[in-house]
Amino acid sequence: MKKIQEYTKTELTAEQEKLRKSYESFRAQHLSLDLSRGKPSAAQLELSEALLRLPKPGDTFGEDGTDCRNYSPDVCGLPEVRRWFGELFGVPWNLVIPGGNSSLALIHDALSRAFIFGPLPGFTPWGRLEKVKFICPVPGYDWHFHSLDQFGIEMIQVETGEEGPDPAEIREIVKDPDVKGMICVPMYGNPSGVTYSEAVVDCLASMETAAPDFRIIWDNAYMVHHLYDEPEKRDRLANIYDLCVRYGHEDRVLMFTSTSKMTFPGSGISAIAASPANIKEAERILHYRLVGYDKLNQLRHLRFLPDKAAVEAHMSRHAAILRPKFEYIENVLEEEIVKAGLGHFHPPRGGYFICFYALPGCAKRIVELCGEMGVTLTPAGAAYPHDVDPKDSAIRLAPSFANAEDIPVVMQVFVTAVRMASIEKLTN
Ligand code: PMP
Repeated sequence: MKKIQEYTKTELTAEQEKLRKSYESFRAQHLSLDLSRGKPSAAQLELSEALLRLPKPGDTFGEDGTDCRNYSPDVCGLPEVRRWFGELFGVPWNLVIPGGNSSLALIHDALSRAFIFGPLPGFTPWGRLEKVKFICPVPGYDWHFHSLDQFGIEMIQVETGEEGPDPAEIREIVKDPDVKGMICVPMYGNPSGVTYSEAVVDCLASMETAAPDFRIIWDNAYMVHHLYDEPEKRDRLANIYDLCVRYGHEDRVLMFTSTSKMTFPGSGISAIAASPANIKEAERILHYRLVGYDKLNQLRHLRFLPDKAAVEAHMSRHAAILRPKFEYIENVLEEEIVKAGLGHFHPPRGGYFICFYALPGCAKRIVELCGEMGVTLTPAGAAYPHDVDPKDSAIRLAPSFANAEDIPVVMQVFVTAVRMASIEKLTN
């Protein structure tokens, strides 16, 4: 395919005329389509319908005899659920606290504890410090950035490459003692789709930081959300906790996940996993925040997905629904946009998003044009702190919620918008 940059003036005029006609024709169709929602489709929710009938009447006791209908003895929940998450995280069961229906809430709690009480006894509460800075790999998850912003944390952006953020750049940034942490989605990133390489994880675990209470918020929301069953087509993420222990930084990482995109978002269970000291401190403070999380929901999930093999099989059914949508979009991006020299993307092997990088200065215009043609996309800039993408290039595509039969027309609209915006940019 000839690159737009190589078109003659006459060819460009003809192309612009053709695109204008497509644009008018899409507008006349009054489409109302949406590729902005990073949530499961109805067909995916259907996969977990049996959850609604669990646990069965009479089956309300945990393995240690805990009656899940009643208050729990402590905030840590059922040992078997701690074990279940421990296996997913790759840490011992006693380093896990299963939480409520949201990992974001657990992250918010961890930040609140650090700000009010200090990350661990002996450290100054971050709320008493003049400045707190965090490393934020971009593009990243907008909820993280808005949350950090509410705490008054200064966000330092680091670009996410094919293997994650650049270790050399991070090593340099952590020489500043005001840099107290980093927040990231290390596997099948939202929205980058990138999984951090072993070298990146090793650097994060081993690097010396000026702040002794440096914390990594490791939001592993997509840890089992592979798009492919074949092991060689999956990404692998190194166990950062093991590496932190090896390098003598075991308190550095706070790991989070949830079942939100395994079963029902908003009605699942979340979990935090961290070092013995971090877990003890979280437990000490959580003890007076609540008596305990929802153990009936913990039991319900355990009955539905009793072990790692059951999780694998269930996630493979999700993947069967998601994969064709991702592959269709990736194919159109590759054939009609990348080959025309109008952007690039990292084909994700899991997770919920494809991040398309348009020619610099085009993302906002593309999203605007799509909107005019009846296709809603995530606002350009949303994946950056303060909603500003300095290059105005990244666009998050979320294929999951859209109907599979709508995706071809969504992509025709998208290609039209990318070509229109790029030509506008190149000819100005
Ligand atoms: N973290 C990431 C990276 C996410 O993409 C999402 C869902 N969009 C969440 C957290 C939300 O998880 P939860 O429902 O457990 O709060």
